[in-house]
Amino acid sequence: MHALQHFVLVGAPASGKGTQARFLAETYHLESLSTGALLRHEIDRETELGLRASSYMERAMLVPDEIVNGIVRSWIGSHLEASWLLDGYPRTVAQAETLESNLKALGTQVDVVVWLDVSRELIEARMAKRRECTQCGHTTRNGEETCPVCHAPMRKRSDDNAAAFALRWRDYETLTEPVVRFYQQQGLVVHIPVTQEGEPEDVSRRIASALKAYAESKN
Ligand code: ADP
Repeated sequence: MHALQHFVLVGAPASGKGTQARFLAETYHLESLSTGALLRHEIDRETELGLRASSYMERAMLVPDEIVNGIVRSWIGSHLEASWLLDGYPRTVAQAETLESNLKALGTQVDVVVWLDVSRELIEARMAKRRECTQCGHTTRNGEETCPVCHAPMRKRSDDNAAAFALRWRDYETLTEPVVRFYQQQGLVVHIPVTQEGEPEDVSRRIASALKAYAESKN
């Protein structure tokens, strides 16, 4: 699968994107950038970028395109030789267009977009039990109080409540699903529908076999 170098992962809020991003990064040896994790890290460190981002994220809003575009652009600029995965970006068509022109200027492109298409019902059932490590960012699914990786305390993500979720879901439908259509028009989307609860490993296996078929279809 050496032809696939640049991956984008798109999925709804709380869809298990982070878990599948780790799977993809390990399996295909990708450097990965999660814009959500990076922004949360900046907020924890109380940087200027973090302060700007937190006013949006606290209200369950998307961070403005120009902030996120700048972050991703400089990250890509420092990973020119790498194969990479973008997790949580682009989230709007404007971001997708900016990414496209930035990559074009570098003589490269997105090779594949994995669309983790989890139903809203399934996500709402999961959300109540989701936790995130206060130190290493590891996420778990069963309400754990202590991180299984680094043993620090876990927290509920502050945006994980029903009202915030409704807002984030609306943004996903109105702003991010058009990103999927943008890439579908370019024939780049690998669609992974998930409507029933199962193990994350099952989803990973489905992604791997869909990617294999996709890569073969491009050869
Ligand atoms: P989730 O997958 O649960 O939505 P993320 O970690 O991907 O969580 O993102 C958390 C928050 O970070 C988003 O709700 C948004 O406020 C901000 N964010 C992350 N990526 C972007 C992006 N590409 N554009 C705008 N805001 C973003």
